[in-house]
Amino acid sequence: MIPFNEAKNIVESHLFQLGNETVGLNKSSGRILAEEVTASIPSPRFDNSAMDGYAVRAVDTKGASKKNPVTLKIISISSAGSPAADEIGPGECIQCMTGAAIPQGADAIVMVEDTSGFSDGKIVQIFLEAHESKHIRKKGEELSEGDLLISKGTLVAASEIGSCATFGYEKLTVSQKPKIAIFGTGNELVEPGNELKSGQIYNSNLYIFAALAEKVGAEVIMRDVLKDEKDSLRQFLSRALATSHMVISSGGVSMGRYDYVRDVFMELGVQEHFWKVAQKPGKPLFFGTGQDTLIFGLPGNPVSSYIGFMEWVWPTLENMMGKKSSKILSGTLTESFPRESVKKRFLFGNAWIENGELVCRSASKVGSHMLTSALGANCILSSEPGDEILNAGDKILVNVLPWKTIF
Ligand code: AMP
Ligand code: MG
Repeated sequence: MIPFNEAKNIVESHLFQLGNETVGLNKSSGRILAEEVTASIPSPRFDNSAMDGYAVRAVDTKGASKKNPVTLKIISISSAGSPAADEIGPGECIQCMTGAAIPQGADAIVMVEDTSGFSDGKIVQIFLEAHESKHIRKKGEELSEGDLLISKGTLVAASEIGSCATFGYEKLTVSQKPKIAIFGTGNELVEPGNELKSGQIYNSNLYIFAALAEKVGAEVIMRDVLKDEKDSLRQFLSRALATSHMVISSGGVSMGRYDYVRDVFMELGVQEHFWKVAQKPGKPLFFGTGQDTLIFGLPGNPVSSYIGFMEWVWPTLENMMGKKSSKILSGTLTESFPRESVKKRFLFGNAWIENGELVCRSASKVGSHMLTSALGANCILSSEPGDEILNAGDKILVNVLPWKTIF
């Protein structure tokens, strides 16, 4: 058994980065940017009006009020997409709509509400003194051409897609999706939808893995529930090792007589880097590497498998895609939390904000076979090894489940 942090360092030292691919902007949601994106044009691209109104020379409107309007001559219209070619001179103005280019000679916009209104007439009355730059969106005030728009490693979502569209990008270079093979082992496992016979249970773990894989942005290319026998393990694994960036198993990696997963990994040339980590649940965690594949063997108890995925597999997949993993927070316990003398202790929990502080407590069910402890949880809490339990008021690590929110 090796310490948790030592095992983390070993995994880190075997990480490799996935290649890139180009995808259409519409297909980029949930992907990780593989290149930095810069502003291809200044934003705004040209001085334009923030209001529907009149483009004027501010100096011409001096002293204008409702009682003492200034009368200006309308010489043209500038609308969004159809800039006016004319240049305004003293005493002149141009009707100028929101988003329309500011005509030559103008240095302010008067809102139409502060005038006698739009018309097809030759003149307009201005009711308000305009100041230079008023209601003008200046070229480059948001970003200059070449400025950094989005940094490499960012998760692409609505903000990024919208901003990229603003700058005319129709495609983005993103990290490839990790191709993963997931399998569970156990003669007792039956797929949901079938009837259970004596001693059998339903396979839950592969459903957890598949859901997590989708959330993190991986592509499951192989998935199966296997019997505790070397032949079927060999068959599945030899193909998985040849085709996947990562193989993730659940079960069959402990001390049981029929726990063959580790044996078959080794038979197929997988290099073992560790087996058994100082953590609870999930001590018999296996980590190895093949030619171009990382292998995580997680123990079968559903909570061990789930927490093992979130603490080991998830950050590794993110890392392979070039995404910076989110920070683990620190929260204050409202109730006691167990500790193990040499193992890191994990439990599903809930974290929320109280009086501006992050507080948390663990789920009441603590058994690693009790998957319903994950229901309603928004985080995984973990205590460092130690001899005494943590009490209410003590600090603890809070790993917020990335798809959950803290209330
Ligand atoms: P193992 O790691 O194979 O010793 O399994 C530990 C416990 O987890 C046993 O009670 C198994 O029945 C259970 N288990 C293993 N795989 C799964 C699975 N895919 N879904 C639900 N429970 C499982
Ligand atoms: Mg088993």
